[in-house]
Amino acid sequence: MKRTFISLTFLVATHVSAASVQEQMEQNAAVKTAVEELVLANHILYDQNAVDGYGHISVRNPANPNTFFLARSVAPSVVKVDDIIEFDMNGKALNGDTRTAYGERFIHSGILRNRPDINSVIHGHASPILPYGLTGTALKPVYHMSAFLGEGAPVFEIRNFAKPNPDTDMFVSSSDLGDALSQTMGLQYFVLMRGHGYATGADSIKKAVFRTVYAIQNASIQSEAMKMGQVQYLTPGEAANSKETIEKTIGRPWQLWSERVKNQ
Ligand SMILES: [Zn+2]
Repeated sequence: MKRTFISLTFLVATHVSAASVQEQMEQNAAVKTAVEELVLANHILYDQNAVDGYGHISVRNPANPNTFFLARSVAPSVVKVDDIIEFDMNGKALNGDTRTAYGERFIHSGILRNRPDINSVIHGHASPILPYGLTGTALKPVYHMSAFLGEGAPVFEIRNFAKPNPDTDMFVSSSDLGDALSQTMGLQYFVLMRGHGYATGADSIKKAVFRTVYAIQNASIQSEAMKMGQVQYLTPGEAANSKETIEKTIGRPWQLWSERVKNQ
């Protein structure tokens, strides 16, 4: 009788408990790199005014495409390796981790679940971006740095997906809303969220940070240019060509931004 109890306990334990984030970092160099880069990206995003006390960045687990890493619910500027939680694609914390998670982890699970070409997602509320989700004026690339915006960023209207009441708390707080956000993003890499903020995606952490920083700068430049008169946007051809050229060089600003936060 005693032996049966022990073996059942062992089975249950091995079923629910995969390796912790720390253990995976020790066993797999790619996981270690991804988690350490994720921590650094949190600090860079704060330093670059892309996030404040709110906002977050995730990365898909390089050892398991069906899970991702995201900090527990703390301000990005103070995130440490110990704060990183592993989630499944429904936004459920793994490894028995019961620490408080970001309520909007479904932004990350929704996009990562629906977009296998995206490995890193950023969400924030940077103020230069917000008017473009409110007014019907499209956020479009005004220069080469933000060429990835293509022919303009789509706008997620949460009222169209909220059930049964369209008046929500504005939070993407369920898998269904995460799916709806991802559908609105379509095959693009940036989506505005009306009355809330933005979500960015890319195949790497560095590229997601790069796109976020320059999408915000684009919003500031576009708003200034619109006060002066008719704005010339990049044509779709210019956007496609310059996206390819500029995104080969993202290691350079990443180095600059990393040095800044490491020296603080
Ligand atoms: Zn938010």
